[in-house]
Amino acid sequence: MLGDPAPAGCFARMSPYPHLFRPLDLGFMTLPNRIVMGSMHTRLETLDRPLERVTRFYVERARGGASLIITGGFSPNEEGLMEPDAPIFNSPGQIAEHRHVTDAVRAAGGRIALQILHAGRYAKIDGAVGPSTIASPINPNAPRRMSEADILRTIADYAATAALAREAGYDGVEIMGSEGYLINEFTAPRANDRSDAWGGSLENRLRLPTEIMRAVRRRVGRDFLVVFRVSSIDLVEGGLTAEEIVAEARAVEAAGADIINQGIGWHEARVPTIAQKVPRAAWAFAARRLKEAVRIPVIASNRINTPEVAEAVLARGDADLISMARPMLADPEFANKARDGRGDEINVCIACNQACLDLIFSKRTASCLVNPRAGREIEFDAPPPPRRKRVGVVGAGPAGVACAIAAAERGHAVTLYEAQARIGGQLNLARNVPGKEEFDATLAYWRRRIEVLGIDLRLGHKPDAKALAAQGFDEVIVATGVMPRVPDIDGIGHGKCASYVEVLDGSFQVGAVVAVLGAGGIGFDIAEYLTSAPQEIAASEEHFRSEWGVDAGVAARGGLAPSPRKRGEGNPQRRVVMLQRKPGRMGRGLGVSTGWVLRILLAKREVTQVSGAAYRRIDDAGVHVTVGGEERVIPADTVVICAGQEPERSLYDALVTLGTKAHLIGGAEHAAELDAMRAIDQGTRLAYAL
Ligand code: NAP
Ligand code: SF4
Repeated sequence: MLGDPAPAGCFARMSPYPHLFRPLDLGFMTLPNRIVMGSMHTRLETLDRPLERVTRFYVERARGGASLIITGGFSPNEEGLMEPDAPIFNSPGQIAEHRHVTDAVRAAGGRIALQILHAGRYAKIDGAVGPSTIASPINPNAPRRMSEADILRTIADYAATAALAREAGYDGVEIMGSEGYLINEFTAPRANDRSDAWGGSLENRLRLPTEIMRAVRRRVGRDFLVVFRVSSIDLVEGGLTAEEIVAEARAVEAAGADIINQGIGWHEARVPTIAQKVPRAAWAFAARRLKEAVRIPVIASNRINTPEVAEAVLARGDADLISMARPMLADPEFANKARDGRGDEINVCIACNQACLDLIFSKRTASCLVNPRAGREIEFDAPPPPRRKRVGVVGAGPAGVACAIAAAERGHAVTLYEAQARIGGQLNLARNVPGKEEFDATLAYWRRRIEVLGIDLRLGHKPDAKALAAQGFDEVIVATGVMPRVPDIDGIGHGKCASYVEVLDGSFQVGAVVAVLGAGGIGFDIAEYLTSAPQEIAASEEHFRSEWGVDAGVAARGGLAPSPRKRGEGNPQRRVVMLQRKPGRMGRGLGVSTGWVLRILLAKREVTQVSGAAYRRIDDAGVHVTVGGEERVIPADTVVICAGQEPERSLYDALVTLGTKAHLIGGAEHAAELDAMRAIDQGTRLAYAL
């Protein structure tokens, strides 16, 4: 294989991540390291000044040291559009604007490849096409069955877009052949019921990827990078078997691919592939299967978010490169920091999806919960402040810490007060929920930034208004957070009642039969926490595969285990009932890309949900409710109160009384629908305005 072995230069010897920083010689191009910024649709093109935004977004990642950037998907033709305003690259008239991006990335020392993505039956447009008329369960539009002429024209369209990409200055293209899009649909019996040359036998089903790869290679020549993304495990019934996956990888290699990138799961799969519930590097086993099948380099993907994890995947020989999409939103300088031995200064992607995928799926533009600058780079171009101010921030939860760090980065002298013995506020509770231990990385990053920036951190300090006023700060920021709401229910003081705080911090002994009052994000988290295996087990790959019915051997089609866990196998030792006053389905406010994961998990664990409940009282028997006019008792040894929060504003009110001007942010300002995304964004933006 080209590029192996290739430890080059003294740097490879010095790096704490020697495999990650070994250059890869592809013959016509050398990648300086093994870090690829994976493709991610950002929808930045839908905002004002789109070209400026997109260019800046990629330039910052190129400067940050990613060896190769792969753009979000561009359709090769109108039928392949994901939605009516999705990106398309099918005309020479578009070359100039692409040049703007590619020239800037090259000037920043980077390389960039254009992803070509035909959405197939996932297209949310009139006139979607596919190998058959079989509709996807996640798109009500049934596709039109492509004729032979349609197929040949589409192959030519892929090649034409690749040629345009070359003319526009891209270093290569990635052909999106996975995740259930058009090419993947042709390869799998699930969506392909054809009996002509494009369906039926494996050879026929692999004809489309192979012919696209050949046509693209013919048009772009040998010295232009072509990455082919192969589905390494489909995770749907009627998907490919391991032998078929291997055959596809070999077929696209033979047809001229330079690199194979790993795709995982169709979008309609009911197995999470990138959510927090997925252990880090959980899919590396599937990358390894591809690597063992071919001689060209293979990229591993999904839930690889730190240099340590990436290095381990490469060191084990599971893959040759690592794709990171979300981690590059979280920290554009990921690669440079890792290279320079500053891994502890990386702002780690915590796989929450809240500010990236969830925003995209709700037709907004991607950003990042831990890095609100992502995708908004041009909004944070404020010139340095005219003078260095003395800034006092009270409260080291997400809003306060984000504000303190951003203010210090802008040159202000910051003092950060925290009543507790540690920073992080509610994140210290959330981190106890299985999967949410990823918040540890954010907390560690914040601690390091506070140290590096020289912020004066006063833990265990709860200054009162007078003491603060006496400090003479130029700016005072109050980020004192929230208090759990105590609902006015008869018997709320019963010894069996606990707040979610007492449960998550381990100070309350929870019984075997539990009623959870309130079904917002925290109610769901509590139900998950109480029915889950211990965090260290839940984080293991074996447990994940067993819980979700994933067969690593991909013996059966799609890699779904023949007998996935049955309902009720989750945590038989604890019975949980969730209650809310609103009628209707619970969990409507959960994240679009993650809520379904929680709902499936809780259903498997037989967590019962009661909506439209009027709480009457809590006593030894449990929770007395009226539901649909009928009186019921929900038996419970423990009643966990997850009824939202109230702002903690006593300090702010006292400052106002004293006449001291202060800014109020985070949950202290607005407790309803508080989440870390809003808190961090608000804190950061305030710091830029000081
Ligand atoms: P929340 O989402 O506002 O939910 C509060 C729950 O308490 C609701 O189910 C509400 O339902 C109930 N409630 C409100 N007032 C009540 C009262 N007086 N008596 C009894 N029940 C009452 O708040 P949260 O669950 O505390 O979450 C806080 C924030 O963190 C939210 O923005 C949430 O989205 C976010 N978060 C998200 C996730 C996630 O997406 N996985 C996880 C954790 C936290 P009824 O009024 O219908 O009873
Ligand atoms: Fe990662 Fe969450 Fe940021 Fe998305 S929003 S990039 S998942 S940290």
